[in-house]
Amino acid sequence: MSKRIWNFNAGPATLPLSALEKVKADLPDYNNTGMAVMELSHRSKAYDAIHQDALAMMRDLFGVPDNFKILFLQGGASQQFAMVPLNLLGSGKKADYIITGSWSKKALKEAKMQGSINVAGSSESTNFNRIPAQNELNLESDAVYCHITSNNTIAGTQFQTFPATGNVPLVADMSSDILSRKIDFSGFGLIYAGAQKNLGPSGLTVVIVREDLIASGREDIPIIFQYRTHAEKDSLYNTPPTYSIYIMKLVLDWVKEIGGLPGVEKRNQEKGDLLYGCIDEMGDFYKGAVEKESRSLMNVTFRLPSEELEAKFIADGLAAGFGGLKGHRSVGGVRVSMYNALEPQGIKELVSFMKDFAQKNG
Ligand SMILES: *Cc1c(COP(=O)(O)O)cnc(C)c1O
Repeated sequence: MSKRIWNFNAGPATLPLSALEKVKADLPDYNNTGMAVMELSHRSKAYDAIHQDALAMMRDLFGVPDNFKILFLQGGASQQFAMVPLNLLGSGKKADYIITGSWSKKALKEAKMQGSINVAGSSESTNFNRIPAQNELNLESDAVYCHITSNNTIAGTQFQTFPATGNVPLVADMSSDILSRKIDFSGFGLIYAGAQKNLGPSGLTVVIVREDLIASGREDIPIIFQYRTHAEKDSLYNTPPTYSIYIMKLVLDWVKEIGGLPGVEKRNQEKGDLLYGCIDEMGDFYKGAVEKESRSLMNVTFRLPSEELEAKFIADGLAAGFGGLKGHRSVGGVRVSMYNALEPQGIKELVSFMKDFAQKNG
């Protein structure tokens, strides 16, 4: 039996062991088909059952209302940066963008090519260490949508409450916190996420979009980029990323096993309490990189007293079985990504390593 490390990679990221073991058991003969899942036709009965199960489970577990479609696309969240404004904007239309990190900035850059964009709020002046408050926002009442990045994977911030935008629907990049907490869909028009953080392997992008926005989307853009194309064909217009969808379905089985969204939320809170508790308790040595009110439960960023100590922390951590602790190059320091699948035990062990390391090096 090979040894698995505690994997704190930011994405692609750790997956539930039970899902990986099921993948292994299903190779090379899935369900007596005589084929592996990756060899099945996307038009076959065996694959269709996986596809429909994955759609139904996502709807059920995340509480997606009936007036939203769930799409399985490709091209990552990065493609959605372009597809959202391509479908929803156009000449004479405007959108609000709240800028909370480098992913928001990339989304903004694409949007500017498709319509008139109002930056309704930004925390760039403080290096994205916080989420702008409601009273700092400068929202346009005639915007087609307001775009946010719900969790900022690099900086380590997360919207604790979502902006109140009146009748303007929120469009959210939830790549790094989808299915990590309960969402009130009434404020949202569209949610998108690359699967490789909280849902499964890379290659799959989940888009959850309100039907009226699909219907009002532009028709004079390439067919493959129109949401309606994929909505009308249940995401089988072209060959979907079948293997990634199958693995996501196994991840959703696991979510169900641990108590669905309430179970996930409880675990995430428990992990957050442990790790932020340690950082606060040892504030002379570990300094949280973001404001407390904006702290993310998915990506925890902190600094040590010197860059030398940070390098030692990361190297000693790896030797002790903790991988992926290096902060993003734009922020530096340490980043602990602890998505849904990261077991609380991993954080317990990391916290004890942190206490030990501070004692020896503080
Ligand atoms: C990882 C990430 C992205 C980029 O996703 P791709 O699937 O690589 O395009 C975008 N936004 C956020 C918030 C992310 O965490």
